[in-house]
Amino acid sequence: MDKLGIKILERAGQMGFTESLAFDPGLLVPKQRTRDFCEEDKCGDYNNNYMCPPCVGSLEEIKGQLEEFHRGLLLRYSRSMEVKKGNKEITDSKAAFHNKILQLEEFMRGEGIEHMWGISGGSCGLCEPCQARLSEPCLYPDKAKASLEALGIDVLDLLDEFGLDNKFHPDKITWTGCILFDY
Ligand code: SF4
Repeated sequence: MDKLGIKILERAGQMGFTESLAFDPGLLVPKQRTRDFCEEDKCGDYNNNYMCPPCVGSLEEIKGQLEEFHRGLLLRYSRSMEVKKGNKEITDSKAAFHNKILQLEEFMRGEGIEHMWGISGGSCGLCEPCQARLSEPCLYPDKAKASLEALGIDVLDLLDEFGLDNKFHPDKITWTGCILFDY
């Protein structure tokens, strides 16, 4: 890894990401199986959030977008909580993860990196409700973020690739996302 890559990883550590590692975006392969889970709509966001399917684009369109990038940082963020009781804490931790990704993108922009794609965890929660529910335009198109799952990525398989923990823990929530970039 070059000096800039090391500097970005160091910054991610200082910002409180639980894990950060460089990876090849070629590992991100959108799969119909993952899209099928979204179509079951157990979370209620299908067609109700601009950063979720089908609004986020077809698997073919996403594949094309992913192919534009040749460097990636996998980012994870954990918080201790009683997950089954923690609706507000879960939402807060998701917002914190989203904000950290925005802040790291800002840092990378300051280092001269223009071509970036930050991908967060869960459905985009910057507005309540998402304007997609009201058929109004997205309020923060520059800050809105899709999740890896919304893009059709099997996150459990991806974590397996890196030997990272992908189990459910009742006392801890962990979000997984990434920033794809080129320079
Ligand atoms: S920024 Fe707001 S309107 Fe845009 S996708 Fe996120 S929640 Fe929806």
